[in-house]
Amino acid sequence: MSPAQVESFAPRREQPVFASVAIIGIGLIGSSIAHAARQMNLAGRIVLADRDPDVCARARELGLGDSVVATAREAAADADLVILCVPVGACGAVAEEIAGALKPGAILSDVGSVKNSVVEAVQPHLPSGVAFVPAHPVAGTENSGPDAGFASLFLNRWCILTPPEGTAAAAIAATRQFWEGMGALVEIMTPQHHDLVLAVTSHLPHLIAYNIVGTAEDLAAVTQSEVIKFSAGGFRDFTRIAASDPTMWRDVFLHNKEAVLEMLGRFSEDLSVLTRAIRFGDGETLHRHFTRTRAIRRGIVALGQEKPETEKLRKD
Ligand code: NAP
Repeated sequence: MSPAQVESFAPRREQPVFASVAIIGIGLIGSSIAHAARQMNLAGRIVLADRDPDVCARARELGLGDSVVATAREAAADADLVILCVPVGACGAVAEEIAGALKPGAILSDVGSVKNSVVEAVQPHLPSGVAFVPAHPVAGTENSGPDAGFASLFLNRWCILTPPEGTAAAAIAATRQFWEGMGALVEIMTPQHHDLVLAVTSHLPHLIAYNIVGTAEDLAAVTQSEVIKFSAGGFRDFTRIAASDPTMWRDVFLHNKEAVLEMLGRFSEDLSVLTRAIRFGDGETLHRHFTRTRAIRRGIVALGQEKPETEKLRKD
């Protein structure tokens, strides 16, 4: 299905994919799933839980799901699909907590931005008869918490599934149906490959943004107010990325250490080439490089993963 087709469909299903879905962790992703699953009729019943009682109270005020319960275990009992929407570093502990409550035939999933460490942390707690289908929706904003979610977050965005070898085909198909029902484009790959790809496309850019915004603030010659006052498009985009949730991103870097360090090494080498070109006035190298990267941007726009700048300006 092409991105354009997904955008024009966003269909509401006649029959839910799952009779009962549990969402554990009511942040940006958990609340967006609750909105989307209800809007597209993907679950007969949606139960949510979060460890923070204030978050649970707010989720009730917002009318998220059919009920909000106090513990992950309570939410997971009786659910056909349980989705862990907590930071990557918390997935193992939550899986351990709910393991005894999962019913045979249930599917356990997650939305973590790192996959290999989540698979390693969750799998030892998996009861027999429960399938594990890890997922990563490559969609997000810099906002967190139950108020941040919205139903169209996943529309026309990729969701990568990384089922361990031997996972029942029916469980993978149902999880795929659920994400496609929210408008996502689903791709399947190994957790290791996912972590390598995302280290380049997501984790490294976030690290660069965190670094450059920190550096700008530290520079004695440029006061913070000037940084804010004169922030041009490029820097403003970095500040948006660097405003992302600190807990989530701490966990991403701690849990995708190898791949990020490997990509950081490559990045430093390539940066040295550009540094050299600037130092020696090698305009040809700079121009060739910038021409190549411009083509990548146009490719992303052509795939429907980003709007052209002119259209963005009109919408913003
Ligand atoms: P979020 O808005 O910060 O929400 C996470 C929620 O989970 C918070 O309410 C948090 O409570 C709660 N939580 C933490 N530990 C818990 C536990 N042990 N039991 C129950 N609840 C717990 O985070 P998010 O952005 O939705 O991210 C959730 C997951 O989605 C992460 O694994 C992240 O890697 C992944 N993801 C995020 C994005 C994105 O752009 N944000 C995109 C794709 C995937 P406290 O506040 O008390 O810790």
